[in-house]
Amino acid sequence: MEQVREKAYAKVNLGLDVTGRREDGYHLVSMVMQTIGIHDDIVVYKTKDPNISLDIDYGGVHLATPLSAGDDNLCARAARVINERLGIGHGYFIHLTKSIPVAAGMAGGSSDAAAVLRAINRLEDAGLTTEELQELAVKIGADVPYCVVGGTMQAEGIGEKLSPLKSFADVPLLVAKPPEGVSTAEVYHALDEQETICHPDMKAICEAVSNGDVDGLTKHMGNVLMDVTLPKYPVVGKIRDLMLENGALGAMMTGSGPTVFGIYRTAQECQKAAEVVRAGGLCETVMATKTIADITK
Ligand code: ATP
Repeated sequence: MEQVREKAYAKVNLGLDVTGRREDGYHLVSMVMQTIGIHDDIVVYKTKDPNISLDIDYGGVHLATPLSAGDDNLCARAARVINERLGIGHGYFIHLTKSIPVAAGMAGGSSDAAAVLRAINRLEDAGLTTEELQELAVKIGADVPYCVVGGTMQAEGIGEKLSPLKSFADVPLLVAKPPEGVSTAEVYHALDEQETICHPDMKAICEAVSNGDVDGLTKHMGNVLMDVTLPKYPVVGKIRDLMLENGALGAMMTGSGPTVFGIYRTAQECQKAAEVVRAGGLCETVMATKTIADITK
């Protein structure tokens, strides 16, 4: 086998809390991660020459500046990490087609990296276990171990300590990203400066998710980073309100934003709301999708 394809799925956070800080400055988090039906596509080819090269096709993704296709791209980093682990002499050409909005709180880059790890493991018939792939993944980024498996998980530590939750698949979800760029570092810095923090009830969120209780989830869902983002980026609140006024059972920001997602009772309601949010003109990307259990499909 000389080439392998993998889908790299996006995630949203159904809950996100920051619980402390490690001595090295990394924030400790508690998050409920959920795969959604938006994905990048990755094809990895073996090459005779020992280098790792990358070609990026942007499809419908809006970007002011293209991503680096060099060694710092997370796909190239992942290929290097697994190549070193397997002690392989040849290189790879990676073709990446982006559909996941970039710097959006949807783990696009992390998911691409995880997909490259899975792809090369298959391409080389290397037989690394999920745990072994996750050990490599954490070297690339805190969200990458989750992206190796996807689905519904609670993530703690800096995001790398994973506990599976019961599947929360097929829930209609609307994702909308405004053009504003939000710096993750800035958001965490603003949180550190904040005197009072309103923490979401992560236990209640995990329980609702595990029980497949959509109403329970939408009652408790919360993202501690949204409170610090809202005053600076009012567009985030406007999109959330537009979703809530148009049938969303709950709506909030994912990750450090600025993407907002809404949860709907039916796919039809979700589609209808997508049209309204699109017409609202606040967003560069509006996608009606659903939660996904299995990233291998
Ligand atoms: P997270 O939800 O994990 O915080 P994000 O969705 O906010 O991530 P990404 O789309 O992963 O953000 O991009 C973050 C940065 O990573 C980008 O600004 C880009 O410079 C860099 N990057 C490197 N490789 C990739 C890649 N393959 N796809 C997207 N971004 C990449």
